[in-house]
Amino acid sequence: MALEEPTDMNELVYYTSRDLDNGGEVFCWVKRGKCPACGNGFMGKPKDEKTGKAKIRAKEYVCPECGHTVEKTEYEETLTAEAKYTCPECGKQGETTGPFKRKKVKGVDTLRLQCEHCGGNIDITKKMAKKKE
Ligand SMILES: [Zn+2]
Ligand SMILES: [Zn+2]
Repeated sequence: MALEEPTDMNELVYYTSRDLDNGGEVFCWVKRGKCPACGNGFMGKPKDEKTGKAKIRAKEYVCPECGHTVEKTEYEETLTAEAKYTCPECGKQGETTGPFKRKKVKGVDTLRLQCEHCGGNIDITKKMAKKKE
């Protein structure tokens, strides 16, 4: 597996690079997906008609080509999270992918990926995403 690291942040829905709580580190990103309706446009946040800027807090994504709209969580769960990491369990470096779907782990929204070597969990918690380092 050879993941292509993102070059343009505008293509991304999500991005993080950080040390993990239990050791190891991860660089994870989620690329924008194409519109499920027309297959042409890349889904994005709706733009403010006055300023032309994307409404980051919008609860939906919209296709710039055909106007197809999908609810935020529903859309994001169809995307794939890609990651390069140093595994907290086995200490090896690897690459992995998984659905961009958060689940509760110890009460915290967590994006859980699996190490390609040992199957150990690579947990990227939502809480940590806000922490600046
Ligand atoms: Zn479309
Ligand atoms: Zn591992």
